[in-house]
Amino acid sequence: MHYIIFDMEWNQAFSAEKMVKHPVVLRGEIIQIGAVKLNEQKEVTDTCNLIIKPKFYKKMHWSVSKLTHIKTADLKNGSSFAEAILMFQKFIGDDSVLCTWGPDDMGMLWDNLRVHGISAEWLPKSYDLQMIYDMEIAKINRQAALEEAMEFLNEEILPSHDALNDALNTARVCRYLNLPEVFENYEQREKEYECRLTGADEVYHSEQKYENRDKALENEELLSFICPKCGEKGKLSGVIYQNENKYLAVGTCANKHGYMARLRISKDHGDGVYAVRYLYELTEERNEYYLAKKKRYDEKQKKFTEHLLALKKQQRKAP
Ligand SMILES: [Zn+2]
Repeated sequence: MHYIIFDMEWNQAFSAEKMVKHPVVLRGEIIQIGAVKLNEQKEVTDTCNLIIKPKFYKKMHWSVSKLTHIKTADLKNGSSFAEAILMFQKFIGDDSVLCTWGPDDMGMLWDNLRVHGISAEWLPKSYDLQMIYDMEIAKINRQAALEEAMEFLNEEILPSHDALNDALNTARVCRYLNLPEVFENYEQREKEYECRLTGADEVYHSEQKYENRDKALENEELLSFICPKCGEKGKLSGVIYQNENKYLAVGTCANKHGYMARLRISKDHGDGVYAVRYLYELTEERNEYYLAKKKRYDEKQKKFTEHLLALKKQQRKAP
């Protein structure tokens, strides 16, 4: 088995209006993929550095240029995204897993594949080495920057914000991680990590996709929980919409242990949504927080209904 450690640089739109919105909101367009192949002894056996000519965000954003030193002219002779992905796929080979520093690169890769209509099914399983470093080595409840990890490990840092250098930097850190043993119960660790980062008592990821957000919120599974305190069943209700993809709800278990839940429901790109639920003990503070949010939500809903009624009245009056 090989470890493919990769990092990417991406350009961004100059304004929110200029952002690609379909089939995904494209926060960044990949312009460089740097990757390192490690054998099981974690020795570098190959590297790859792909420059990609952007299709959507053709002019380099000043802030990205400043960070990466990549200028618009540097991308002229780059490969198309489809060509680069073929080369990347070849580099990955058959018997590999993907490793990144943090969760952003995988998300960005998925979004870019989707925008270009390229399947992501061929991608091997991916692991977040930042999470493993944070939990196993630094033992911190936050996301350590790569540079910070390298300083901590007394490793020499190659100039960052270059995809290949960052992949090589990550490969250095990788040597300190207890792979592949850590991969074995990775999902469990991932949940633990999420609890540590968010301060939640429990985190639940929906296994199946729901048809849309409404269907997700009607779902029994998302709204029922097993009390982390006593193991009894509990139920959430009073779901209110907050913003973007966030919802709040409250509930109690059979033994009256109270909880507040934060729900995150992913964007619907026409192929369904998935949901994540974070459960927090319902302290007095949280209860007040929830009630204040609920009040605001109810007022908004009331205004909205009144607005609709007024519109209907107007329409009826119109000749
Ligand atoms: Zn309970």
